[in-house]
Amino acid sequence: MGKHVTEINESQFETLVTGSDKPVILDFYSTECPPCEALASKFEEYAELFSDYIYFYKVFRQENRSLANQLNVQSSPTLLFFNNGREVAKRLSGGIRKQELKDTIQNMVSPEVFQNVMSRRKKTNRKADVIILGGGPAGLTAAIYSAQAKLNTILIDPALPGGQVATTHMISNYPGTGGPVPGWELSHKMLEQAKESGAEILAAVDITSLKCSKIGETHYIQIDEDLELESPVVILAMGADPRKLGIPGESEYRGKGISYCATCDGKYFDGKEVVVIGGGNSAIEESLFLTRFATKVTIVHQFDELQANKTAQEHAHQNEKIHFILNSEPRSFEAAENNQMSVKIENTKTGEVSELITDGIFIFIGMVPNAVHLPDALDKNHWGYILTDEDMKTNLPGVYAAGDIRSKKIRQAATAVSDGCIAGINAEKYIDNLKIHEKERKLMGLPA
Ligand SMILES: Cc1cc2nc3c(=O)[nH]c(=O)nc-3n(C[C@H](O)[C@H](O)[C@H](O)COP(=O)(O)OP(=O)(O)OC[C@H]3O[C@@H](n4cnc5c(N)ncnc54)[C@H](O)[C@@H]3O)c2cc1C
Repeated sequence: MGKHVTEINESQFETLVTGSDKPVILDFYSTECPPCEALASKFEEYAELFSDYIYFYKVFRQENRSLANQLNVQSSPTLLFFNNGREVAKRLSGGIRKQELKDTIQNMVSPEVFQNVMSRRKKTNRKADVIILGGGPAGLTAAIYSAQAKLNTILIDPALPGGQVATTHMISNYPGTGGPVPGWELSHKMLEQAKESGAEILAAVDITSLKCSKIGETHYIQIDEDLELESPVVILAMGADPRKLGIPGESEYRGKGISYCATCDGKYFDGKEVVVIGGGNSAIEESLFLTRFATKVTIVHQFDELQANKTAQEHAHQNEKIHFILNSEPRSFEAAENNQMSVKIENTKTGEVSELITDGIFIFIGMVPNAVHLPDALDKNHWGYILTDEDMKTNLPGVYAAGDIRSKKIRQAATAVSDGCIAGINAEKYIDNLKIHEKERKLMGLPA
């Protein structure tokens, strides 16, 4: 713990927090808590900056349970903001970003103090051999290979690492796990392995800009406004997200009745009935796959014709288990009795709304690559996915892409891991070549 943050216990709460003459920020933390680790350096940094105006305290939650209960603190980390004995701002918890902490502090001190302190803040620059954007299976695997090759490796993620796997209920097809394994557990192991290999993880950061050199020089990444990272190699592993409908109940029941992956979750619907939303290639292919398990698959599609290719359409129409509700869009999802789900569907031609009760809902309306900040000079396909060769090289020297962000056919944890491995190994080769090149130029008396 740095010198500007003081560890306190519950017996000191009244004197040091509610009885304080200055505002107080209290951080309830736990051990073995990745979001707590992600917060620690940001908390220390702001403590150093604002120590004349605010007290920064930490409370170890496991040993101060009665205080945590009294304050209704239910997760770690949780930041509480006090002034004059009472809480004065919305609590922050989970993957807390620097910007959120900064915004809250701004409201705890006068505008002059805030301006003055922030103007003293130094911008820093750090060099690494390899910078990886994205901490899903692809990025974490690349980090393991790169760090084990003794390359100085920094992985950054705007969220907490783990990617889509971390938010998936069960992963049942990942080799070596002995069967279904909770997604958070698999991603936690990948993260720990990357850290143990020596990779540095910067989580819950704001990525402000990404400048990739077109001629194979240094690449620059700006994070949290005040830290610039530079490296000769960048691995882009920001993944993709299933496109969302954005209707009530969708996020609430994700993983609890609503799925975006038939390969992953189809088997849980053996002998049951499911609803598929979508009518393009993936919706129809996945519906056909789901008929291996489900007794009935009802496809709800917004137009009067499917958008999938003709062969897939024929297969779907010939399959007795598949039924269609056309010219219709879902409007909301809700839990129904007996662990079932209710889907409200509106006929777009008549406006009539009906209810469908089903065992599970699959949404296949496309994926969206996490392409924010990608340089224009990077070659992408029509949908924004990055084009690479089989070595995961992009068209920009020293820039690799791995996992779901790539233009590819199969998006699974195992294929992301494969891409990450290839990118990590090729990053190492690229850096070796740079070193050889540098040595040769030195021998010839040329500038590096
Ligand atoms: C509901 C669901 C269930 C699934 N079930 C299975 C399954 O059972 N088996 C299986 O093999 N696969 C499954 N998949 C697919 C699998 O999760 C993905 O293929 C895999 O996670 C892709 O890994 P990735 O590392 O490429 O990307 P992701 O897992 O998407 O990780 C990308 C990471 O990049 C971060 N990021 C985003 N934007 C940026 C940025 N600008 N800069 C830096 N970082 C960024 C994200 O926060 C995230 O941590 C499932 C997917 C879903 C959606």
